[in-house]
Amino acid sequence: MNHRRYAILKLITFLGSIALAGRFLMNKINDRKTKMPSVFIGHGSPMNALANNSYTRSLSQFAKEIDKPKGILVVSAHWLTDGTYITAMDKPKTIHDFYGFPKALFDIEYPALGSKELVNRVSGLLGGVLKKDFGDWGLDHGTWAVLKHMYPNADVPVVQLSIDRNESFQFHYEMGKKLSALREDGYLILGSGNIVHNLREMSRNEDAQSYDWAIEFDEWVKENLLQRNDRSLFSDVLDRKSGQLSVPTAEHYIPMLYALGASENTEKLDFIFEEMQNASVSMRSFRIG
Ligand code: ZN
Repeated sequence: MNHRRYAILKLITFLGSIALAGRFLMNKINDRKTKMPSVFIGHGSPMNALANNSYTRSLSQFAKEIDKPKGILVVSAHWLTDGTYITAMDKPKTIHDFYGFPKALFDIEYPALGSKELVNRVSGLLGGVLKKDFGDWGLDHGTWAVLKHMYPNADVPVVQLSIDRNESFQFHYEMGKKLSALREDGYLILGSGNIVHNLREMSRNEDAQSYDWAIEFDEWVKENLLQRNDRSLFSDVLDRKSGQLSVPTAEHYIPMLYALGASENTEKLDFIFEEMQNASVSMRSFRIG
C-alpha cells in the first residue's frame, strides 16, 4: 500500500471514530434529557395542600429542577382495589376523599387531563394484570395535594394506578420494575404515601416531637434506601417493632416500593424532604435518577 492510500485510510478511520463518539455523546445527552426520575413523595395531612411551608416549598423547588414530564403516573395510598386499575378517563375528577377539614380544602379542583397514550403504555407494560375500565375514580388527595405544589397550573396530564390490596410488598416492588421503562419515554413515576404513617398515634400539632419508634424506622428506611437494600425494604419491614408501629397498615408504605422498583440500584438517590409531621408521619420524600 502506498503512503497516500494509507494516509487516506487512516483519515477515514479517524473520522469514523469521531462520528461514532459524537453519536454516543448525543445519545447520552438525549438520555439525560428525556429519562425522568422515579419519585416518592410523603403527603401527610391533606392540609399540606393549602400550606406554604418548608415541605411544600421543597416540592415546588423539585419540580423546577427537572424537565417537565410528558405525563405523570401516580400510585397513591388512597386508591386501594381488588386487582390493579388505572384511571382511563380524559378528564379525571378531583376527589375530596376526607372528612372534617375546612371548606377551602373541599373547594380545591385539580383539572389535569388524563392521557390515553400513558394508559396504553402502562397497559402494554403490565399486560393482563391491568383492569382498565374503572370509571368512577379520578385524582384523590394523595395525588392533587402533592401535584398542586409541583404543577400548580395542572398543565401536565395525570394518570393514577391503583394498589391491589391483596398483594404483597414484593409484588408492588416488581410492579415498579415493570413500569420503569416509562421514565425513558419522558413520564414521571410518582409514589405518594408516607414511610411512617400511624394515624392512631398522630398529634394534632404538626410540629409535635416525633416518637422514638417513628424516628428509628424512618432512619432504618433511609439507610436501606441509601445502601439499596431493596430486599430488606420489601421483606423485613414488619420484623421490627418500629416497623409494626410505623406501618400499621400497608397502603401508605406501598407507593414507596413502586418508586424504588422503577429505578436501578446504580442510580443516584437524593432526598427531597426529610422531616416528620404530627409526631407519627414521616414526610421523607426522594428522587432516584
Ligand atoms: Zn394519606
